[in-house]
Amino acid sequence: MTTCIGYGVHEANAPLEPLKFERRELRADDVAIDIDYCGVCHSDMHYVHNDWKSTRFPCVPGHEIVGRVTSVGSAVSRYRVGDLVAVGCLVDSCQQCEACEVHQEPHCTQGMTPTYNGLDRISGEVTRGGYAQHIVVRERFVLRVPPALDPRFTGPLLCAGITVWSPMRERGVKAGTRLAVIGLGGLGHMAVKLGVALGAQVTVITTSPGKADDALALGRITFCCPPTRRL
Ligand SMILES: [Zn+2]
Ligand SMILES: [Zn+2]
Repeated sequence: MTTCIGYGVHEANAPLEPLKFERRELRADDVAIDIDYCGVCHSDMHYVHNDWKSTRFPCVPGHEIVGRVTSVGSAVSRYRVGDLVAVGCLVDSCQQCEACEVHQEPHCTQGMTPTYNGLDRISGEVTRGGYAQHIVVRERFVLRVPPALDPRFTGPLLCAGITVWSPMRERGVKAGTRLAVIGLGGLGHMAVKLGVALGAQVTVITTSPGKADDALALGRITFCCPPTRRL
């Protein structure tokens, strides 16, 4: 076990504070990562506040993780020490069911293992997230950060980004597709940027006219809000 210091809470609605806990030793297919950046997702706040009545305390949130590989298990083949990598919302799944076989691990029929507030499939210990110095993650759930991405701004792609990217890929969004984005928040602004990058004709639907300038700054979009405004 390796001692790790993170930010977490011991009880609902307590302020985040430094919290010491243990990370597991490397298994053969594990990657150890020093965390440089971690995004803040609104789900983190829900767990901290125990809004969903399912928080396992003490809770260390964070599932938009970017960092450097510091060591790898004996069976790891895709990563080496020093690689820039990322970890998103899940860190394990059964690897055998129909969903896992087609890389739909979030829909694992045995339940996927979330990056925090889950239970490790082998040891049963509570998983703890990225508001911390380092983390140990199974290789299959580690992602490579390409050189084109600035690691300071990569974190939100791991949750907000994939949440909107996945359905856009599923539905085959491409140049000329008409794409409507309802709400320009954490997910919505990602959807606009990704949609524009794919060449889609993007419309933002919002009841907040004050967001018009931000929406327009994100790309070539058609903007609608009451009263309808088309640009
Ligand atoms: Zn999230
Ligand atoms: Zn599965």
